[in-house]
Amino acid sequence: MQNSRVTVDWCPDKSAPIPIYQQIINYISGKISSGDWTIGSRLPSQRVLAKCFDVNRSTVIRALEELSSYGILEGDSGKGTAVKSNTWSLLMTTAPPDWGSYVKSGTFQENVPTIQTINKLEFKKDIIRLGTGELSPDLFPRDLMSEVFHRLSARIPSLNYLEPLGLPELRHALSLRLKKQGIDADPSCILITSGSLQALQLISVCILKPGSVVYTESPSYLKSLQVFPSAGMKLAGVPMDREGILYWNIKSEDALLYTIPSFHNPTGILMSESRRQELFRFCSNRRLPIIEDNAYGDLWLDEAPPMALKTMDKNGMILYLGTISKTLAPGLRIGWLVGPQSVVERLGDVKMQVDYGASSVSQWAVTELFTGGLYDHYLIGLRAELRKRRDRCLQLLDRHLAGLATWDIPKGSFYVWVRLSERIQVDQLFHLMLKDNILINPGNVYDFEKNQAIRLSYAYASEKEMEFGIQKLAEVIQRIR
Ligand code: PMP
Repeated sequence: MQNSRVTVDWCPDKSAPIPIYQQIINYISGKISSGDWTIGSRLPSQRVLAKCFDVNRSTVIRALEELSSYGILEGDSGKGTAVKSNTWSLLMTTAPPDWGSYVKSGTFQENVPTIQTINKLEFKKDIIRLGTGELSPDLFPRDLMSEVFHRLSARIPSLNYLEPLGLPELRHALSLRLKKQGIDADPSCILITSGSLQALQLISVCILKPGSVVYTESPSYLKSLQVFPSAGMKLAGVPMDREGILYWNIKSEDALLYTIPSFHNPTGILMSESRRQELFRFCSNRRLPIIEDNAYGDLWLDEAPPMALKTMDKNGMILYLGTISKTLAPGLRIGWLVGPQSVVERLGDVKMQVDYGASSVSQWAVTELFTGGLYDHYLIGLRAELRKRRDRCLQLLDRHLAGLATWDIPKGSFYVWVRLSERIQVDQLFHLMLKDNILINPGNVYDFEKNQAIRLSYAYASEKEMEFGIQKLAEVIQRIR
Protein backbone atom coordinates (compact mmCIF):
# COMPACT_ATOMS: atom_id res chain seq x y z
CA MET A 1 0.00 0.00 0.00
CA GLN A 2 1.27 3.44 -0.92
CA ASN A 3 1.92 5.71 2.08
CA SER A 4 -0.08 8.93 1.95
CA ARG A 5 1.43 12.27 1.18
CA VAL A 6 0.71 14.98 3.73
CA THR A 7 -0.80 18.32 2.88
CA VAL A 8 0.73 21.58 3.98
CA ASP A 9 -1.70 24.34 4.84
CA TRP A 10 0.50 26.75 6.77
CA CYS A 11 3.29 29.18 6.18
CA PRO A 12 5.78 30.79 8.56
CA ASP A 13 5.25 34.20 10.09
CA LYS A 14 8.09 36.31 8.71
CA SER A 15 7.50 39.07 11.24
CA ALA A 16 7.86 36.72 14.26
CA PRO A 17 11.09 36.82 16.31
CA ILE A 18 11.58 33.02 15.84
CA PRO A 19 13.88 32.07 12.92
CA ILE A 20 11.93 30.77 9.92
CA TYR A 21 13.68 27.39 9.75
CA GLN A 22 12.84 26.92 13.47
CA GLN A 23 9.19 27.74 12.80
CA ILE A 24 9.20 25.05 10.11
CA ILE A 25 10.72 22.54 12.54
CA ASN A 26 8.07 23.41 15.15
CA TYR A 27 5.29 23.11 12.58
CA ILE A 28 6.39 19.69 11.27
CA SER A 29 7.13 18.23 14.71
CA GLY A 30 3.79 19.58 15.97
CA LYS A 31 1.96 17.86 13.11
CA ILE A 32 3.75 14.58 13.88
CA SER A 33 3.38 14.66 17.65
CA SER A 34 -0.33 15.53 17.38
CA GLY A 35 -0.83 12.49 15.14
CA ASP A 36 -1.91 14.50 12.08
CA TRP A 37 1.09 13.18 10.17
CA THR A 38 1.57 9.49 10.84
CA ILE A 39 4.71 7.36 10.58
CA GLY A 40 5.50 6.51 6.97
CA SER A 41 3.55 9.40 5.46
CA ARG A 42 5.53 11.32 2.87
CA LEU A 43 6.23 15.03 2.70
CA PRO A 44 6.00 17.07 -0.49
CA SER A 45 9.30 17.57 -2.32
CA GLN A 46 11.70 20.27 -1.09
CA ARG A 47 10.79 22.44 -4.05
CA VAL A 48 7.05 22.18 -3.33
CA LEU A 49 7.61 22.79 0.38
CA ALA A 50 9.66 25.92 -0.38
CA LYS A 51 6.78 27.15 -2.48
CA CYS A 52 4.14 26.34 0.15
CA PHE A 53 6.17 28.02 2.88
CA ASP A 54 7.18 30.87 0.58
CA VAL A 55 10.84 30.50 1.58
CA ASN A 56 14.16 29.63 -0.08
CA ARG A 57 14.81 25.96 -0.69
CA SER A 58 17.94 26.20 1.51
CA THR A 59 15.72 27.12 4.50
CA VAL A 60 13.59 24.02 3.91
CA ILE A 61 16.71 21.86 3.58
CA ARG A 62 18.09 23.16 6.88
CA ALA A 63 14.84 22.35 8.73
CA LEU A 64 14.48 18.88 7.18
CA GLU A 65 18.12 18.03 7.92
CA GLU A 66 17.71 18.97 11.55
CA LEU A 67 14.53 16.89 11.88
CA SER A 68 16.33 13.97 10.20
CA SER A 69 19.22 14.30 12.63
CA TYR A 70 16.71 13.84 15.50
CA GLY A 71 15.44 10.69 13.79
CA ILE A 72 12.02 12.19 13.15
CA LEU A 73 12.25 12.27 9.33
CA GLU A 74 14.15 10.16 6.93
CA GLY A 75 15.18 11.07 3.40
CA ASP A 76 15.32 8.70 0.47
CA SER A 77 16.65 10.05 -2.79
CA GLY A 78 14.06 8.10 -4.79
CA LYS A 79 10.91 8.65 -2.72
CA GLY A 80 11.57 11.99 -1.00
CA THR A 81 11.21 12.62 2.75
CA ALA A 82 8.97 10.56 5.08
CA VAL A 83 7.96 10.58 8.75
CA LYS A 84 10.11 8.07 10.64
CA SER A 85 9.34 8.48 14.35
CA ASN A 86 6.79 10.20 16.57
CA THR A 87 8.15 9.30 19.98
CA TRP A 88 11.05 10.36 22.22
CA SER A 89 13.08 12.07 19.56
CA LEU A 90 10.33 14.66 19.13
CA LEU A 91 11.29 15.99 22.52
CA MET A 92 14.70 16.88 21.16
CA THR A 93 13.26 19.62 19.04
CA THR A 94 11.94 21.67 21.93
CA ALA A 95 14.07 21.96 25.03
CA PRO A 96 11.95 21.50 28.20
CA PRO A 97 11.54 24.54 30.42
CA ASP A 98 14.10 24.96 33.18
CA TRP A 99 11.96 23.34 35.88
CA GLY A 100 14.98 23.38 38.20
CA SER A 101 14.72 27.13 38.54
CA TYR A 102 10.90 27.09 38.61
CA VAL A 103 10.77 24.71 41.58
CA LYS A 104 13.11 26.94 43.56
CA SER A 105 10.92 30.00 42.97
CA GLY A 106 7.81 29.11 45.01
CA THR A 107 7.21 30.75 48.35
CA PHE A 108 6.57 27.56 50.33
CA GLN A 109 9.90 26.44 51.78
CA GLU A 110 11.11 22.87 51.46
CA ASN A 111 11.53 20.52 54.40
CA VAL A 112 14.91 20.28 56.06
CA PRO A 113 16.94 17.41 54.52
CA THR A 114 16.61 15.12 57.56
CA ILE A 115 12.82 15.32 57.38
CA GLN A 116 12.87 14.72 53.64
CA THR A 117 14.97 11.61 54.29
CA ILE A 118 12.62 10.40 57.03
CA ASN A 119 9.54 11.00 54.85
CA LYS A 120 11.02 8.85 52.11
CA LEU A 121 12.61 6.10 54.20
CA GLU A 122 9.48 5.46 56.26
CA PHE A 123 8.20 3.61 53.22
CA LYS A 124 11.33 1.58 52.54
CA LYS A 125 10.76 -2.16 52.78
CA ASP A 126 11.75 -3.73 56.13
CA ILE A 127 12.78 -0.44 57.73
CA ILE A 128 12.26 -0.29 61.51
CA ARG A 129 10.50 2.94 62.41
CA LEU A 130 11.58 3.78 65.93
CA GLY A 131 10.45 7.41 65.90
CA THR A 132 7.21 7.47 63.88
CA GLY A 133 4.39 9.57 65.34
CA GLU A 134 1.47 7.40 64.38
CA LEU A 135 -0.17 4.18 65.45
CA SER A 136 1.21 0.87 64.28
CA PRO A 137 -0.79 -0.94 61.59
CA ASP A 138 -1.08 -3.69 64.25
CA LEU A 139 -3.28 -1.30 66.23
CA PHE A 140 -5.57 -0.47 63.34
CA PRO A 141 -9.12 -1.28 64.53
CA ARG A 142 -10.22 -3.26 61.49
CA ASP A 143 -13.49 -4.51 62.98
CA LEU A 144 -14.43 -1.09 64.28
CA MET A 145 -13.81 0.54 60.91
CA SER A 146 -15.69 -2.12 59.01
CA GLU A 147 -18.65 -1.62 61.37
CA VAL A 148 -18.45 2.16 60.79
CA PHE A 149 -18.35 1.84 57.01
CA HIS A 150 -21.12 -0.75 57.08
CA ARG A 151 -23.37 1.64 59.02
CA LEU A 152 -22.39 4.50 56.73
CA SER A 153 -23.55 2.78 53.60
CA ALA A 154 -27.11 3.28 54.87
CA ARG A 155 -26.52 6.73 56.34
CA ILE A 156 -24.66 8.76 53.71
CA PRO A 157 -27.21 10.72 51.65
CA SER A 158 -24.69 11.82 49.01
CA LEU A 159 -21.02 12.57 48.63
CA ASN A 160 -21.45 16.07 47.31
CA TYR A 161 -19.47 19.08 48.44
CA LEU A 162 -20.27 20.16 51.97
CA GLU A 163 -20.85 23.58 53.46
CA PRO A 164 -17.79 25.77 54.18
CA LEU A 165 -17.43 24.85 57.88
CA GLY A 166 -17.87 21.12 57.22
CA LEU A 167 -20.53 18.46 57.81
CA PRO A 168 -23.14 19.87 60.25
CA GLU A 169 -23.69 16.43 61.83
CA LEU A 170 -19.99 16.18 62.62
CA ARG A 171 -19.79 19.70 64.03
CA HIS A 172 -22.81 18.95 66.18
CA ALA A 173 -21.26 15.70 67.45
CA LEU A 174 -18.01 17.53 68.18
CA SER A 175 -19.84 20.27 70.00
CA LEU A 176 -21.38 17.66 72.34
CA ARG A 177 -18.03 15.90 72.80
CA LEU A 178 -16.19 19.11 73.59
CA LYS A 179 -18.90 20.13 76.06
CA LYS A 180 -18.16 16.97 78.08
CA GLN A 181 -14.53 18.11 78.19
CA GLY A 182 -15.52 21.54 79.50
CA ILE A 183 -15.26 23.41 76.18
CA ASP A 184 -18.26 25.46 75.07
CA ALA A 185 -18.26 25.35 71.29
CA ASP A 186 -21.35 25.97 69.24
CA PRO A 187 -21.28 24.10 65.88
CA SER A 188 -21.08 27.53 64.21
CA CYS A 189 -17.69 28.01 65.90
CA ILE A 190 -16.20 24.74 64.68
CA LEU A 191 -14.38 24.33 61.36
CA ILE A 192 -13.59 20.86 60.03
CA THR A 193 -10.15 20.80 58.43
CA SER A 194 -8.13 18.30 56.42
CA GLY A 195 -6.03 17.34 59.44
CA SER A 196 -4.97 19.88 62.03
CA LEU A 197 -1.95 20.71 59.90
CA GLN A 198 -4.36 22.40 57.52
CA ALA A 199 -5.73 24.48 60.38
CA LEU A 200 -2.19 25.79 60.95
CA GLN A 201 -1.79 26.47 57.25
CA LEU A 202 -5.08 28.41 57.11
CA ILE A 203 -4.15 30.43 60.21
CA SER A 204 -0.77 31.28 58.68
CA VAL A 205 -2.25 32.71 55.51
CA CYS A 206 -5.52 34.20 56.81
CA ILE A 207 -5.02 35.86 60.12
CA LEU A 208 -1.37 36.68 60.63
CA LYS A 209 0.66 39.50 59.10
CA PRO A 210 4.00 38.64 57.51
CA GLY A 211 6.69 39.59 59.99
CA SER A 212 4.68 38.68 63.07
CA VAL A 213 6.16 36.35 65.64
CA VAL A 214 4.84 32.92 66.56
CA TYR A 215 6.10 31.80 69.96
CA THR A 216 6.24 28.13 70.72
CA GLU A 217 7.87 25.69 73.10
CA SER A 218 11.50 24.96 72.38
CA PRO A 219 11.71 22.30 71.06
CA SER A 220 8.40 21.95 69.22
CA TYR A 221 6.71 19.98 66.48
CA LEU A 222 5.95 23.37 64.93
CA LYS A 223 9.64 24.02 64.34
CA SER A 224 9.81 20.93 62.11
CA LEU A 225 7.29 22.54 59.75
CA GLN A 226 7.81 25.37 57.26
CA VAL A 227 4.16 26.48 57.42
CA PHE A 228 4.65 29.73 59.34
CA PRO A 229 8.08 30.72 57.97
CA SER A 230 6.76 30.18 54.44
CA ALA A 231 4.03 32.73 55.12
CA GLY A 232 6.62 35.22 56.39
CA MET A 233 6.24 34.66 60.14
CA LYS A 234 9.14 34.24 62.51
CA LEU A 235 9.14 31.34 64.95
CA ALA A 236 10.59 32.04 68.38
CA GLY A 237 11.40 29.30 70.89
CA VAL A 238 10.43 29.51 74.55
CA PRO A 239 12.20 27.18 77.00
CA MET A 240 10.30 24.58 79.02
CA ASP A 241 10.70 22.79 82.31
CA ARG A 242 8.94 19.64 83.48
CA GLU A 243 5.70 21.59 84.02
CA GLY A 244 5.59 23.07 80.55
CA ILE A 245 6.40 26.34 78.83
CA LEU A 246 8.30 29.06 80.75
CA TYR A 247 5.89 31.69 79.48
CA TRP A 248 7.51 34.66 81.19
CA ASN A 249 10.19 34.56 78.48
CA ILE A 250 7.63 35.75 75.93
CA LYS A 251 8.55 39.35 75.18
CA SER A 252 6.91 40.63 72.02
CA GLU A 253 3.27 41.73 71.96
CA ASP A 254 2.71 41.65 68.20
CA ALA A 255 2.66 37.90 68.31
CA LEU A 256 0.81 34.72 68.96
CA LEU A 257 1.56 31.60 71.00
CA TYR A 258 1.34 28.05 69.67
CA THR A 259 1.42 25.48 72.44
CA ILE A 260 0.90 21.74 72.93
CA PRO A 261 0.03 21.56 76.65
CA SER A 262 -0.89 17.87 76.78
CA PHE A 263 1.82 15.33 75.95
CA HIS A 264 3.89 17.76 74.01
CA ASN A 265 5.47 16.69 70.73
CA PRO A 266 8.38 15.86 70.86
CA THR A 267 9.17 15.91 74.60
CA GLY A 268 6.00 14.28 75.96
CA ILE A 269 5.80 16.96 78.69
CA LEU A 270 2.38 17.40 80.31
CA MET A 271 1.74 21.01 81.34
CA SER A 272 0.69 21.16 84.99
CA GLU A 273 -2.65 22.56 86.10
CA SER A 274 -1.04 25.58 87.77
CA ARG A 275 1.17 26.37 84.76
CA ARG A 276 -1.92 26.30 82.56
CA GLN A 277 -3.68 28.82 84.77
CA GLU A 278 -0.65 31.12 84.95
CA LEU A 279 -0.08 30.87 81.20
CA PHE A 280 -3.69 31.71 80.45
CA ARG A 281 -3.61 34.69 82.80
CA PHE A 282 -0.34 35.92 81.33
CA CYS A 283 -1.66 35.73 77.75
CA SER A 284 -5.03 37.24 78.70
CA ASN A 285 -3.33 40.23 80.33
CA ARG A 286 -1.30 40.86 77.17
CA ARG A 287 -4.12 39.99 74.76
CA LEU A 288 -1.78 37.44 73.23
CA PRO A 289 -3.82 34.96 71.16
CA ILE A 290 -3.13 31.26 71.70
CA ILE A 291 -3.28 28.30 69.35
CA GLU A 292 -3.79 25.31 71.63
CA ASP A 293 -2.94 22.06 69.84
CA ASN A 294 -4.59 19.16 71.62
CA ALA A 295 -3.67 16.41 69.15
CA TYR A 296 -2.72 14.01 71.95
CA GLY A 297 -5.08 14.96 74.81
CA ASP A 298 -7.17 11.77 74.56
CA LEU A 299 -4.08 9.58 74.72
CA TRP A 300 -3.44 9.77 78.46
CA LEU A 301 -2.10 6.55 79.94
CA ASP A 302 -2.15 6.96 83.70
CA GLU A 303 -4.71 9.64 84.45
CA ALA A 304 -6.62 12.24 82.47
CA PRO A 305 -4.63 15.45 81.89
CA PRO A 306 -5.68 18.78 83.43
CA MET A 307 -8.45 20.62 81.59
CA ALA A 308 -7.56 22.21 78.25
CA LEU A 309 -6.62 25.92 78.25
CA LYS A 310 -9.68 26.42 76.06
CA THR A 311 -11.95 25.60 79.03
CA MET A 312 -10.78 28.85 80.68
CA ASP A 313 -11.41 30.94 77.58
CA LYS A 314 -14.49 33.12 77.89
CA ASN A 315 -13.42 35.84 75.43
CA GLY A 316 -12.38 33.90 72.33
CA MET A 317 -8.63 34.21 72.90
CA ILE A 318 -7.82 30.67 71.95
CA LEU A 319 -7.95 28.80 68.66
CA TYR A 320 -8.23 25.19 69.74
CA LEU A 321 -7.11 22.34 67.45
CA GLY A 322 -8.06 18.69 67.53
CA THR A 323 -7.52 15.76 65.18
CA ILE A 324 -8.44 12.12 64.65
CA SER A 325 -4.94 11.41 63.35
CA LYS A 326 -3.20 10.36 66.53
CA THR A 327 -5.97 8.38 68.17
CA LEU A 328 -7.20 6.56 65.09
CA ALA A 329 -6.14 7.25 61.53
CA PRO A 330 -4.16 10.12 59.98
CA GLY A 331 -5.23 8.87 56.57
CA LEU A 332 -8.80 10.03 57.23
CA ARG A 333 -7.38 13.59 57.22
CA ILE A 334 -9.88 15.00 59.68
CA GLY A 335 -9.08 17.73 62.17
CA TRP A 336 -11.06 20.58 63.70
CA LEU A 337 -10.56 24.12 64.82
CA VAL A 338 -12.66 25.84 67.48
CA GLY A 339 -12.59 29.63 67.66
CA PRO A 340 -14.63 32.80 67.39
CA GLN A 341 -17.20 32.63 64.60
CA SER A 342 -15.55 35.46 62.65
CA VAL A 343 -12.26 33.57 62.54
CA VAL A 344 -13.84 30.22 61.74
CA GLU A 345 -15.81 31.74 58.87
CA ARG A 346 -12.81 33.52 57.45
CA LEU A 347 -10.78 30.29 57.52
CA GLY A 348 -13.74 28.35 56.10
CA ASP A 349 -13.99 30.76 53.19
CA VAL A 350 -10.33 30.22 52.33
CA LYS A 351 -10.67 26.49 52.84
CA MET A 352 -13.38 26.49 50.15
CA GLN A 353 -10.86 28.06 47.80
CA VAL A 354 -8.12 25.63 48.72
CA ASP A 355 -9.84 22.21 48.69
CA TYR A 356 -13.66 22.65 48.85
CA GLY A 357 -13.70 20.83 52.15
CA ALA A 358 -12.21 17.78 53.87
CA SER A 359 -13.19 14.36 52.50
CA SER A 360 -16.95 13.86 52.92
CA VAL A 361 -16.51 10.10 53.43
CA SER A 362 -14.09 10.77 56.28
CA GLN A 363 -16.38 13.37 57.84
CA TRP A 364 -19.27 10.90 57.84
CA ALA A 365 -17.02 8.16 59.25
CA VAL A 366 -15.88 10.34 62.16
CA THR A 367 -19.48 11.43 62.79
CA GLU A 368 -20.49 7.79 63.06
CA LEU A 369 -17.63 7.08 65.44
CA PHE A 370 -18.53 10.00 67.70
CA THR A 371 -22.28 9.51 67.72
CA GLY A 372 -22.51 5.74 68.04
CA GLY A 373 -20.50 5.44 71.28
CA LEU A 374 -17.92 3.42 69.34
CA TYR A 375 -15.06 5.86 69.73
CA ASP A 376 -14.93 6.12 73.53
CA HIS A 377 -15.03 2.38 73.83
CA TYR A 378 -12.21 2.09 71.31
CA LEU A 379 -10.11 4.66 73.19
CA ILE A 380 -10.21 2.58 76.37
CA GLY A 381 -8.70 -0.39 74.54
CA LEU A 382 -6.18 1.78 72.73
CA ARG A 383 -4.90 3.30 75.97
CA ALA A 384 -4.38 -0.19 77.40
CA GLU A 385 -2.34 -1.18 74.31
CA LEU A 386 -0.27 1.98 74.39
CA ARG A 387 0.34 1.56 78.12
CA LYS A 388 1.77 -1.91 77.45
CA ARG A 389 3.95 -0.57 74.68
CA ARG A 390 5.19 2.33 76.80
CA ASP A 391 6.08 0.04 79.68
CA ARG A 392 7.88 -2.38 77.38
CA CYS A 393 9.81 0.46 75.77
CA LEU A 394 10.84 1.83 79.18
CA GLN A 395 12.00 -1.64 80.25
CA LEU A 396 14.15 -1.90 77.12
CA LEU A 397 15.58 1.56 77.67
CA ASP A 398 16.43 0.69 81.27
CA ARG A 399 18.10 -2.50 80.16
CA HIS A 400 20.12 -1.12 77.26
CA LEU A 401 20.54 2.62 77.65
CA ALA A 402 20.92 3.20 81.38
CA GLY A 403 24.12 5.21 81.84
CA LEU A 404 24.17 6.20 78.16
CA ALA A 405 21.14 8.49 78.12
CA THR A 406 18.38 9.95 80.28
CA TRP A 407 14.62 10.20 79.79
CA ASP A 408 11.39 10.88 81.68
CA ILE A 409 8.43 8.56 81.89
CA PRO A 410 5.77 9.79 79.46
CA LYS A 411 2.29 9.99 80.95
CA GLY A 412 0.55 9.84 77.60
CA SER A 413 0.86 9.91 73.83
CA PHE A 414 3.67 8.13 71.92
CA TYR A 415 7.03 9.66 72.66
CA VAL A 416 10.07 9.17 74.86
CA TRP A 417 12.47 12.07 74.62
CA VAL A 418 15.88 10.47 75.03
CA ARG A 419 18.67 12.88 75.98
CA LEU A 420 22.21 11.91 75.04
CA SER A 421 25.54 13.11 76.31
CA GLU A 422 27.31 16.08 74.68
CA ARG A 423 29.84 13.77 73.08
CA ILE A 424 27.32 12.07 70.77
CA GLN A 425 26.88 13.54 67.29
CA VAL A 426 23.16 12.97 66.80
CA ASP A 427 23.36 13.30 63.01
CA GLN A 428 26.06 10.67 62.91
CA LEU A 429 23.91 8.44 65.10
CA PHE A 430 20.98 8.92 62.70
CA HIS A 431 23.08 7.82 59.71
CA LEU A 432 24.71 4.89 61.50
CA MET A 433 21.30 3.61 62.61
CA LEU A 434 20.13 3.84 59.01
CA LYS A 435 22.90 1.43 58.02
CA ASP A 436 21.06 -1.11 60.19
CA ASN A 437 17.77 -0.11 58.54
CA ILE A 438 16.53 1.66 61.67
CA LEU A 439 14.94 5.09 61.49
CA ILE A 440 15.10 7.44 64.48
CA ASN A 441 13.96 11.07 64.73
CA PRO A 442 16.86 13.38 65.66
CA GLY A 443 15.76 16.01 68.14
CA ASN A 444 17.36 18.89 66.27
CA VAL A 445 14.63 18.89 63.59
CA TYR A 446 12.31 20.19 66.33
CA ASP A 447 14.66 22.63 67.95
CA PHE A 448 15.83 26.21 67.63
CA GLU A 449 19.36 25.33 68.63
CA LYS A 450 21.53 22.25 68.54
CA ASN A 451 20.11 19.61 70.81
CA GLN A 452 21.31 16.27 72.07
CA ALA A 453 18.11 14.26 72.02
CA ILE A 454 16.21 11.81 69.89
CA ARG A 455 12.47 11.28 69.79
CA LEU A 456 11.55 7.62 70.16
CA SER A 457 7.99 6.42 69.68
CA TYR A 458 6.54 3.27 71.20
CA ALA A 459 3.39 3.53 69.09
CA TYR A 460 4.64 2.28 65.74
CA ALA A 461 7.32 -0.45 65.86
CA SER A 462 6.38 -4.01 66.85
CA GLU A 463 7.70 -5.34 70.15
CA LYS A 464 10.36 -7.37 68.33
CA GLU A 465 11.45 -4.38 66.27
CA MET A 466 11.56 -2.18 69.36
CA GLU A 467 13.75 -4.71 71.13
CA PHE A 468 16.13 -5.06 68.20
CA GLY A 469 16.15 -1.32 67.52
CA ILE A 470 16.86 -0.19 71.07
CA GLN A 471 19.58 -2.79 71.47
CA LYS A 472 21.23 -1.56 68.25
CA LEU A 473 20.83 2.04 69.41
CA ALA A 474 22.77 1.21 72.56
CA GLU A 475 25.49 -0.55 70.57
CA VAL A 476 25.95 2.38 68.21
CA ILE A 477 26.01 4.91 71.05
CA GLN A 478 28.64 2.81 72.86
CA ARG A 479 30.71 2.78 69.69
CA ILE A 480 30.69 6.53 69.02
CA ARG A 481 30.67 8.04 72.47
N1 PMP B 1 -0.16 18.70 65.84
C1 PMP B 1 0.71 17.88 66.43
C2 PMP B 1 1.20 18.22 67.80
C3 PMP B 1 1.19 16.76 65.75
O1 PMP B 1 2.09 15.96 66.35
C4 PMP B 1 0.72 16.49 64.45
C5 PMP B 1 1.20 15.30 63.66
N2 PMP B 1 2.50 14.95 63.85
C6 PMP B 1 -0.20 17.37 63.90
C7 PMP B 1 -0.62 18.46 64.61
C8 PMP B 1 -0.74 17.21 62.51
O2 PMP B 1 -1.59 16.13 62.40
P1 PMP B 1 -2.77 16.02 61.36
O3 PMP B 1 -2.62 17.07 60.32
O4 PMP B 1 -2.63 14.64 60.82
O5 PMP B 1 -4.03 16.22 62.15
